[in-house]
Amino acid sequence: MAKIYLDNNATTRCDSSVFDAMLPYLKEQYGNPSSIYSLGREVKEKIREARRNVAMLLQAKEEEIVFTSCASESNVCAIMSAIRSYPLKKHIITTKVEHASIMETMKYLESIGYQITYLSVDHYGRISLEELEKEIRDDTCLIAIMMANNEIGNIYPVKEIGNLAKKHHILFHCDAVQAVGKVPIDVSSMNIDTLSLSGHKIHAPKGIGVLYVKEKIPFVPLIFGHQEKNRRGGTENVPYIIGLGKAVEMILKDQYQNNKEIEVLRDYMESEIKKEIEDVMIYGDFENRLPNTSSIAFKDVDANQLMLLLESFEIFVSTGSACNSEIAEDSHVLVACGANLGQYSPIRVSLSKFNTKEEIDIFVKHLIQCVSMIRRRK
Ligand code: PLP
Repeated sequence: MAKIYLDNNATTRCDSSVFDAMLPYLKEQYGNPSSIYSLGREVKEKIREARRNVAMLLQAKEEEIVFTSCASESNVCAIMSAIRSYPLKKHIITTKVEHASIMETMKYLESIGYQITYLSVDHYGRISLEELEKEIRDDTCLIAIMMANNEIGNIYPVKEIGNLAKKHHILFHCDAVQAVGKVPIDVSSMNIDTLSLSGHKIHAPKGIGVLYVKEKIPFVPLIFGHQEKNRRGGTENVPYIIGLGKAVEMILKDQYQNNKEIEVLRDYMESEIKKEIEDVMIYGDFENRLPNTSSIAFKDVDANQLMLLLESFEIFVSTGSACNSEIAEDSHVLVACGANLGQYSPIRVSLSKFNTKEEIDIFVKHLIQCVSMIRRRK
């Protein structure tokens, strides 16, 4: 049985051209980019090329791109920088559906006296811009809202959020991990001050991230040191930066064409499932949803059981965020949406450019069997 991998919001397969681009920098091109002799200078130039690609993808300037170890680091760095830059402002606005790296940082900040407003979402996972504006206070130092949700795929109105932040002179941090490569990003027209992205969601390896930092905003590093123009210490992870640069180059070349095909495949999958299985519920905002994501539930079918049954056919889906999968807790995103998880607990199916129609047909065939098997056992 060939593996069918449908959990691309958790992580993606490293593209072979990314791997090939990285390899020389793990073998013969091992210079330190800070060294001034040729072995270092050549590596430095390659890092510059990667930085240029990322800047182009975000419509940013090269100098605004900081390489980090992962998007979690970028998120924490952006938040800590905002609070250290404005020590007298003790209020932050975020949402109830952010990634764990944001949520856990907020919990920590609450424990040391910060006030955090978690914007609620409606049944479709949407936030209200009116509620956001109402919650802004004189002591708000940061608005931290994601561009796209990892579990239900919602795309949030980042441009409007950025406009509000700018109007009230508040920093805006945007976690764009799930949006990169799927949603066109323009940090200046979106009025984003800091933004995070991650290599392993775009077919580069795990362990490399980016923090975009708008020029001239106040910034305090998380890791002090001379690298990355004093914004992130530590010798650069050269092969991974080059891998990320290559992955971004492929997105730039493709110009979001892959996404159109992925969306057609996702929509085909959902319509086949709805045709063949009764009592199906799909979560999220259908008007503004990532093209690859489907959070789909079957009445009275436990998602964990379903996921394990599918695994026996070498089909890999998840029951929510990969970061939470070891914790036997309901998804905070679905709880925030007011989902009836007792009856409709969803699996998350997330596609990539590597998935095919044949794979989707095999998946749907097994899904039908698995759902009816679980329902019969009841
Ligand atoms: N933000 C979102 C929305 C994510 O989905 C993830 C990863 O699952 C992260 C942040 C963290 O990324 P990383 O694994 O690079 O720390």
